[in-house]
Amino acid sequence: TEGELGFSSTESEEESGKAQNDVYDIIISGGGMVGTAMACSLGFDPNLQSKKILLLEAGPKKEMDKAPEVYSTRVSSISPGSATLLSGLGAWDHIINLRCKSYQKMQVWDACSDALITFDKENLQDEMAYVVENDVIVAALTKQLQTLSEQVEVHYRTRVVKYTWPRPYQVSDSIPWVKVTLASGQTLHTKLLIGADGPNSMVRKEAGIPTVKWNYDQSAVVAVLHLSEPTENNVAWQRFLPKGPIAMLPLSDTESSLVWSTSHQHAEELLQMDEESFVDAINSAFWSNENQSDLIEAAGSLFRTALSVLMPNGTSTRQLPPSVAGIGPKSRVMFPLGMGHASEYIRHRVALIGDAAHRVHPLAGQGANLGFGDVACLTQVLSQAAFNGKDLGAMQHLLEYETERQRHNLPMMAAIDLMKRLYSTNAAPMVLLRTLGLQATNALPPLKEQIIAYASK
Ligand SMILES: Cc1cc2nc3c(=O)[nH]c(=O)nc-3n(C[C@H](O)[C@H](O)[C@H](O)COP(=O)(O)OP(=O)(O)OC[C@H]3O[C@@H](n4cnc5c(N)ncnc54)[C@H](O)[C@@H]3O)c2cc1C
Repeated sequence: TEGELGFSSTESEEESGKAQNDVYDIIISGGGMVGTAMACSLGFDPNLQSKKILLLEAGPKKEMDKAPEVYSTRVSSISPGSATLLSGLGAWDHIINLRCKSYQKMQVWDACSDALITFDKENLQDEMAYVVENDVIVAALTKQLQTLSEQVEVHYRTRVVKYTWPRPYQVSDSIPWVKVTLASGQTLHTKLLIGADGPNSMVRKEAGIPTVKWNYDQSAVVAVLHLSEPTENNVAWQRFLPKGPIAMLPLSDTESSLVWSTSHQHAEELLQMDEESFVDAINSAFWSNENQSDLIEAAGSLFRTALSVLMPNGTSTRQLPPSVAGIGPKSRVMFPLGMGHASEYIRHRVALIGDAAHRVHPLAGQGANLGFGDVACLTQVLSQAAFNGKDLGAMQHLLEYETERQRHNLPMMAAIDLMKRLYSTNAAPMVLLRTLGLQATNALPPLKEQIIAYASK
């Protein structure tokens, strides 16, 4: 609790430097999926064993002995790379014991033409990805954090209200660390502050880090779907409609998770509909051909024929998604969508991770995965710095983190934004362009393998 926090000081104590013993080496602000993974990852690192690490989370502690009867609406498609990270932290076993569902195949197709692309892992041992409830991920990491109580202090229901930055060139009478002020009025100090406080990050704003961001003209409606009949349910489905993509991710043999990105107005309408109309709207969004035009069909089919002559093994057959019969009780929720990228991930004594650094459209299911990639990279950099006896908050090694992650995250974010724009129209030239592009990509196995490998990191 806030009252138990290790360090509280008055300004005069700070000035005289008496409280130096109670300075943290690392404070992580925000214990969502990414911040909690960061705390675990630092806690398990052998080179950071002697460091004082604190995780602050505004919300309550999320614990789970067994999976709740009903599925949560907030789920994430977790890449094999993220699963490896969670496994290294000991959290993956808990996730498997609670619940998660793997899928081996993904089918993405266009509502305005017959163009389709499939990604397949049938011939490989690995799963393509896993669908896991966000609460299950946090609960599994929280369980692991409990085993690290010697290494990592954690405080829930503890909101940070202010950050005060040290001056880059130390003035003799000032504390050289970041000052963190809590809602209770207590103050803490840290040599390195990690901002994992989500897309509206206060760490990012108060550090004055410039951010490129915009709101999309779309909101996502999410829900738990009951399927008409049990199926193997090992395919992730996504169809691009003119107003935005609709996706269905497997949860079990009989249930799937919906993420339907559409105009704000349509999203509102979908939320207000009675259950039967909502279910009809979902089925028709996946099955209907009302947006297709004869011209595009003719061009697409000609192109497909040419491709199948050039690359006989390249094209694959279309499958139809399972039909939906109902939805989970009170499971419909809506989220406005946006994109944001901090032009810097680091400052003197500060690093941003997860949605605090980058926010993407959910169409590629990559947001949390990018965040887990940040965790792996920042841990490695800090571990090396600790091994070399360096100051953890120094720019020199934080820059390595920024360079490596921006090199990975930026192309991914640009590709996701391009997809969003390319598919948010039913104008004939654009539809033709993407129809040909998607079909050509689908016919080129090496290119598809590269896409899978990139998205699996
Ligand atoms: C509809 C939808 C579908 C998605 N699907 C996928 C998917 O399939 N795969 C995928 O990888 N990603 C997906 N994402 C993205 C994913 O949900 C996010 O990238 C991820 O949740 C970001 O995690 P985070 O920990 O960085 O931030 P958050 O989850 O926002 O966590 C931030 C935490 O910081 C805490 N906090 C904030 N301010 C303070 C403060 N001042 N003091 C203390 N604590 C504070 C909050 O309480 C919160 O717990 C999806 C997103 C949406 C909207």
